[in-house]
Amino acid sequence: GPVLGVETSCDETGVAIFDPARGDAAGGLLAHTLYSQIRMHADYGGVVPELASRDHVRKLLPLVRETLAQAGLRVADLGGVAYTAGPGLVGALLVGATAVRSLAWALELPAIGVHHMEGHLLAPLLEPDPPEPPFVALLVSGGHSMLIEVAAIGRYTLLGDTLDDAAGEAFDKTAKLMDLPYPGGPALAKLAEQGRPGTFRFARPMTDRPGLDFSFSGLKTQVLLAWQASDRSNQTKADIARAFEEAIVDTLTIKCRRALAATGARTLVVAGGVGANRRLRAQLAEAGAREGFRAHFPRLEFCTDNGAMIALAGALRLQAGEHETPAILVRPRWDLASLPPLGVPIAG
Ligand code: ATP
Ligand code: MG
Ligand code: FE
Repeated sequence: GPVLGVETSCDETGVAIFDPARGDAAGGLLAHTLYSQIRMHADYGGVVPELASRDHVRKLLPLVRETLAQAGLRVADLGGVAYTAGPGLVGALLVGATAVRSLAWALELPAIGVHHMEGHLLAPLLEPDPPEPPFVALLVSGGHSMLIEVAAIGRYTLLGDTLDDAAGEAFDKTAKLMDLPYPGGPALAKLAEQGRPGTFRFARPMTDRPGLDFSFSGLKTQVLLAWQASDRSNQTKADIARAFEEAIVDTLTIKCRRALAATGARTLVVAGGVGANRRLRAQLAEAGAREGFRAHFPRLEFCTDNGAMIALAGALRLQAGEHETPAILVRPRWDLASLPPLGVPIAG
């Protein structure tokens, strides 16, 4: 039956229902809702973990009801439940985990904890004409920048990672140092559209040597120096934003082409918040048309965090027979000598 998916790893509460029985992945998404806490955190210039947890508590159950109503389903119609089990903010994760595991227990449904980045990685499968493994995945979000070889769904090999800032983090921090409003990434990308090409030029970090790792923190420093030395006009700000975006997009494109060449794959999947960047989407599509690979992206709203990707990833894993036991664990027989050492000295 349909699978309820819940995302609460950071600052968006996402809920969706995915039915694996409805043909392809694109047709299986029955409903999805999202509440973003961005406005609440904007006052602080970043996500405040404790406020995030409390807001998930307030929003999650109303969203679950709304999503069920959208799909025309009742809880009794569900065949399974999924939630983001990590990585993310622990308090925020616990809200989704607790709510979903309670539902599973009450309704006697199989439950599964989903890896947030597998969710992002599978999001392009929700689009028509979905990618098929083997493929290379570029995951570029607020906390990650990774290139992954996907031999099959669930068989992931890390090809490259960031040595410092994630791509989204680089966008956000660079935006902040030029006083752009929170959240910086989308604001900087919007401003870049008004920037004139060729006014500034920043490095394409780590593209002059072999390898698939990234490093973006130096770019931030280059921007800071250029900004401080400039006339700080609005046009200059846009010009710098443009040059920064071009540097990141070029770097990501070069590494994607390298990863495709190294693996022999001809399909590229891009996911995570930075996947919403229009210049990145256009440049990778163009490179693909030129070099014979196809780039797949999620629709814009499924690049950043959402419940749909968790419902899909959960449904695929439940379908494969994986699930967590709904039981509360007590042990009638339990060997005392089997306990793991505590590692804490006894007081006194
Ligand atoms: P993670 O998934 O690694 O835990 P996250 O969930 O916070 O991190 P996402 O929600 O996938 O990250 O993406 C948010 C990031 O995407 C932010 O850093 C944001 O600035 C960036 N981002 C969103 N839209 C754009 C855009 N159009 N151009 C560039 N960056 C963008
Ligand atoms: Mg977010
Ligand atoms: Fe995310």
